[in-house]
Amino acid sequence: MAADYDVIVIGAGPAGYVAAIRCAQLGFKVACIDNWLNEKGDASLGGTCLNVGCIPSKALLQSSELYEQANNGFDQHGIKFSSVELDLKTMMDRKNKIVSELTLGIASLLKANKVQVIVGTAKLLAEKNIEVVNEKEKQIISAEKIIIASGSSSIELNVAPLTEGLIVDSTGALAFESVPEKIGVIGAGVIGLELGSVWRRLGAEVTVLEAQDVFLPMVDEKITRDAQRLYKKQGLDIKLNARLLGTKIKTLNKRKQVEVAYQDEKGDHHNVFDKLIVAVGRKPNTDHIFDDETELILDERGFIHVNDKCETSLPGVYAIGDVVRGPMLAHKGSEEGMMVAELIAGNYGSINYDLIPSVIYTHPEIAWVGKTEQQLKAAGENYKVGAFPFVASGRAKAQGDTSGMVRILSHKETDRILGVHIMGLNASELISQAVTAMELGASTEDIALTVFAHPSLSEAIHEAALAVDNRAIHIVQKKH
Ligand code: FAD
Ligand code: NAD
Repeated sequence: MAADYDVIVIGAGPAGYVAAIRCAQLGFKVACIDNWLNEKGDASLGGTCLNVGCIPSKALLQSSELYEQANNGFDQHGIKFSSVELDLKTMMDRKNKIVSELTLGIASLLKANKVQVIVGTAKLLAEKNIEVVNEKEKQIISAEKIIIASGSSSIELNVAPLTEGLIVDSTGALAFESVPEKIGVIGAGVIGLELGSVWRRLGAEVTVLEAQDVFLPMVDEKITRDAQRLYKKQGLDIKLNARLLGTKIKTLNKRKQVEVAYQDEKGDHHNVFDKLIVAVGRKPNTDHIFDDETELILDERGFIHVNDKCETSLPGVYAIGDVVRGPMLAHKGSEEGMMVAELIAGNYGSINYDLIPSVIYTHPEIAWVGKTEQQLKAAGENYKVGAFPFVASGRAKAQGDTSGMVRILSHKETDRILGVHIMGLNASELISQAVTAMELGASTEDIALTVFAHPSLSEAIHEAALAVDNRAIHIVQKKH
């Protein structure tokens, strides 16, 4: 019997909806099943990224940054206010409106591409059948090819169980109704730093407890050192090597608070917070996603096991995005979606997993691609470094924000670029130049020979490339 669809995609996050659209563009009959419902109980496509991840967090980061500038940054430009007032409700409404416009946008895109959207929870059965359950019905549908893109969820901690309005995950931390006086954050990872920054800018006293003794180990060491100093200056109190012992809900003056017990090298501590945000990583959504009879293999960390082409252990079944190995990033999942669609169509498809950019959207932003200096050292790689600080950039000065730098690492003999690390204004945008250059196999000499517009922040990339060979113009370099 013929299958109902050529391709069924489970999950409409940035991995799944991109895969579905590309498959439809390639001429396949496609269905995309998703179970995300908004507060009204309506389907809200776009997964974690659009509903409670990338987009709402960036909306609040932007609003809170403007609030902070209005309080502390505009006076240097000669712009004075008699008072600055925070209207948190309007800020949250703006964020919610952006989410709702974008999620509706995904629904329109899927419709325009003739992708059948099915609202419900999917389970993979044997022989590429899928059971879909929603409030109204249970149905079984089948496809020639299946793409699992069920995403991830926040990891919970037994010692800090989520407690309505008090101990929250990132989703709760995107929706506080007032600015808490004191916030504790467990985990100084990307979410802890981004959401910690949002609430600090809006007036909360924020303490971040991080279990590891190294701050942001995946970031270039020279950048983390500066970042740690800048976060501290901003008022983010980051405590490393802090082992969480337990949490207790306490009522003081009719106000519920969270007492957190932790231990570091100085001994045991007890801190009381109005809210506690648990941001200790995310886990793949694999519970109940497949019937045991399917023999879908998971890896030792619970992710669906896939090869370089995102093929699972079951022929014709692929898995992409946060539910498989690799960085949990929206753009990584989307690219896997594109690749799998092309492979299903018999076309060429591949991803260069070595060149996936990462960004931390704090102030200043931190962005990087390729190897860090510590990785190159550990690998015994022969490399050279060029660095350029934004304090020497005319554009950064004109913008009134000179924190951070660009660092470029290249191979000592071939000069091929091995890693680019940027901390500063618009680092999230600047890094794409580095990704493009590296994707094309560029050397720092190629960048040095390229003309950059003046004045622009991008000139710092040009200067860092020149600095690799000790010929930066706008800084005085020590002779090698
Ligand atoms: P998801 O986006 O998680 O989507 C999976 C979808 O599948 C969901 O809609 C889910 O409801 C649905 N689903 C699951 N199981 C089933 C089932 N059985 N049946 C039907 N549907 C199912 N990444 C970045 O790149 N940049 C950022 O700035 C960024 N910021 C973030 C901020 C926060 C606060 C968080 C939490 C994450 C952030 N991320 C960011 C990570 C990013 O959101 C994820 O990497 C991305 O959403 C993963 O995409 P995905 O499609 O694999 O999964
Ligand atoms: P993360 O892995 O970035 O950081 C979690 C941190 O919590 C780590 O530093 C870890 O050492 C620490 N930790 C773990 N257990 C702990 C404990 N018991 N006590 C104290 N600290 C503990 O995870 P996250 O910040 O939750 O983010 C989850 C994922 O979402 C990340 O993989 C990230 O890629 C993605 N994300 C990306 C962006 C972005 O691209 N800008 C933004 C937000 C989230």
